[in-house]
Amino acid sequence: MDSVWRRLVGGNYQSFALGALVIVILLAQGLSLWRSYQATWLLATRSAENVMRTVASNIERNLSVIELSLIGLEDAVTAPGVADLPSDLRRMVLFDRAAGAQYLGSMLVLDREGDIVYDSVETPPRRGNFADRDYFKAQLQPYVGTYVSAPFASRLRGGDPSIALSRRVSDHDGRFYGVVLGAVRIAYFQSLLETVTLRAGTAIALTRTDGTVILRFPSTDGHGNVGASVARSPVFLRMMNGYRPFTERSAFDRTERYYVYSVVGNFPLVLSVGISTAEALREWNEQAIIWSAVTAAMCVIILLMFRSLQLALLRSREMEAELEMLAVTDGLTGLPNRRAFDMAVATEVRRAARDKTSLAVLMIDIDDFKKVNDRHGHGVGDQVLARVGRQILRSIRRPGNFAARYGGEEFVVILPATDATGALHVGERIRAGVAAMVPSPADLSLERVSVSIGIAIRHIAPGEPPATIINRADEALYAAKGAGRDRVMIAAVRAEV
Ligand code: GH3
Ligand code: MG
Ligand code: MG
Repeated sequence: MDSVWRRLVGGNYQSFALGALVIVILLAQGLSLWRSYQATWLLATRSAENVMRTVASNIERNLSVIELSLIGLEDAVTAPGVADLPSDLRRMVLFDRAAGAQYLGSMLVLDREGDIVYDSVETPPRRGNFADRDYFKAQLQPYVGTYVSAPFASRLRGGDPSIALSRRVSDHDGRFYGVVLGAVRIAYFQSLLETVTLRAGTAIALTRTDGTVILRFPSTDGHGNVGASVARSPVFLRMMNGYRPFTERSAFDRTERYYVYSVVGNFPLVLSVGISTAEALREWNEQAIIWSAVTAAMCVIILLMFRSLQLALLRSREMEAELEMLAVTDGLTGLPNRRAFDMAVATEVRRAARDKTSLAVLMIDIDDFKKVNDRHGHGVGDQVLARVGRQILRSIRRPGNFAARYGGEEFVVILPATDATGALHVGERIRAGVAAMVPSPADLSLERVSVSIGIAIRHIAPGEPPATIINRADEALYAAKGAGRDRVMIAAVRAEV
């Protein structure tokens, strides 16, 4: 359990914590950006809806007033006696106050040929024939109700762009009598759209349901795009086929907008308000960039700080390891020192006892080393020591074998799981190697040195101290010295269980 935990977060729990910290920071930042995005977007769409509702209801109210006047006019025109009234009085009877509204062009009654019969503006009525107008032709069919015309240039008012609402007048037998109409100046819509404050990039348009633009604000042709057809534009098609807001590119200026829209009352008109998505999110975008940069910088700083801490830690660990290494290494020969040997032999003795394998310890002592020092100096003596040490290392080869400087001019070798033949073989190799080497390149008058080696081999009893086998090897070494030096002696193998 513990090891699983350690492998998961293990020695690297700082990295784990750091990763978690960075993830938490990024998540928190992402969440707050997402929240502010939603709030910004909600505000923009709400304000677009408010503008749309305000403008649509204003238009609906005004058109409804005109429609009501037309309905009144339609009844009055065929009322008995009206035709016989004096013309000024008749005008007062036929045309109510609505006819005087600011943006109403004029209210007219046309006969079945399209000629003006009654005129709200002048008596006698102005002359004119409007049989060619769509608002006249449409009413040739019965039951059309109130018709909203496409924009046209008024012939009575010097080309003033207008639309007209018209209704059919039937005589008492239901036959076509003529048409009543009220013209509405495009200027009315213009002033209405100009009064609402719109965020930059917003487009607002009043369009007939057949795709004819009555007015678009801002205009792309300098004249409110009056009369343009958007019947094939994606925005218009989506408005006709749905009821939800949507995002689409405008056919007029290629700007991507979010559109809210609504039919104006019962009239065949659609009012749309499109807010530019780029404009709506401009401020949010700026904030998002700034905050993302700040967060990224924060994460980078945290990572850099962590990295430098980690490096410092690593360096101190390396230094520790080096100190530890120095503590177990003999400075002169580079071999493990006595302390290292004490630890190694304790381990090997325990292992041999456990595995029931025999363990060999070789005690190696340079012969007549005092004389080397005396005759050639301590410098040469040191060199000889180092070279003998290296020679011993070269001779023990097998991994698991261990050589150390025991002290003074004595070395010790541990050979785990080795029998007498093997140990003797290694001992002899060391002895022969030392005898054959040049002991000191600095002083060639010293031609050779020799070593005496005592070997102890034992099956270690459980709990037996390392001293036992070491003493045995020591005894064998003294035996070798006594027998004339430059030789290998092995202690008798005895099971002392
Ligand atoms: P034997 O053949 O009986 O071993 O004779 P020996 O002279 O080698 O033995 P002894 O114990 O009398 O002398 C060991 C000498 O080793 C004494 C000391 O000056 C020398 N010695 C011990 N350590 C060092 C060392 O680090 N450097 C040098 N140059 N000499 C050392
Ligand atoms: Mg000695
Ligand atoms: Mg000696």
